[in-house]
Amino acid sequence: MTPDFADRLHTVQARIRTAEQRFQRRPGSVGLLAVSKTQSVAAITAMAAAGQGCFGENYPQEALDKIIELAALGLEWHFIGPIQANKTRGIAEHFAWVHSVDRLKIAERLSAQRPATLPPLNVCLQVNIDREVTKHGLDETDLATVAAAVATLPRLRLRGLMAIPAPAPNFAAQRQPFARLRELWERLNADGLALDTLSMGMSDDLEAAIAEGATLVRVGTALFGPRG
Ligand SMILES: *Cc1c(COP(=O)(O)O)cnc(C)c1O
Repeated sequence: MTPDFADRLHTVQARIRTAEQRFQRRPGSVGLLAVSKTQSVAAITAMAAAGQGCFGENYPQEALDKIIELAALGLEWHFIGPIQANKTRGIAEHFAWVHSVDRLKIAERLSAQRPATLPPLNVCLQVNIDREVTKHGLDETDLATVAAAVATLPRLRLRGLMAIPAPAPNFAAQRQPFARLRELWERLNADGLALDTLSMGMSDDLEAAIAEGATLVRVGTALFGPRG
């Protein structure tokens, strides 16, 4: 049985619009990134036919295969997974955005390898907001220095911050790390950066993220169903 991708897309879009209203966010100010890691080319094609244009991928080789196969659809691809230094070239050459930059060296490689024929690569810095839970992401204490350095790289455009908080037991607890990320983002803007993107919120916590200012939610399971 084929899941009804259009139904799921409309359900997630409705969740976003409802949360925008409930938390006094401007209508349409929260974008949807469809996280398609492990999903088939057929599933992505169906989601694109239903109207979704931006897709997020976590694994470089899997992503590049799909991007090449689906090139005719004109989709916007975002890299959201951990980045090894030896995988930056493929990312720099094939993506419009990278959400998971977590050290200066990776940003420098992406800038050096971004083809001159493409617009600058949009990047978010991933912040390790729950330090005990994951090892990915920048430490809060390094954030301002790294952000200032990344902002000067010629072939990158620093757009904002991203985080993946640990699962939390209730809505109030879900909001806390998102509030923290927003605070860090506002501080960088007060320091003179012009960040417009807060990439936060997934299938289970997108309402809490929108309450705290998310501009882009990254949703996999609620769109495609459980990953195999
Ligand atoms: C897998 C993944 C998501 C989507 O998670 P769901 O819970 O399936 O919505 C979002 N962001 C990142 C970085 C991911 O790896």
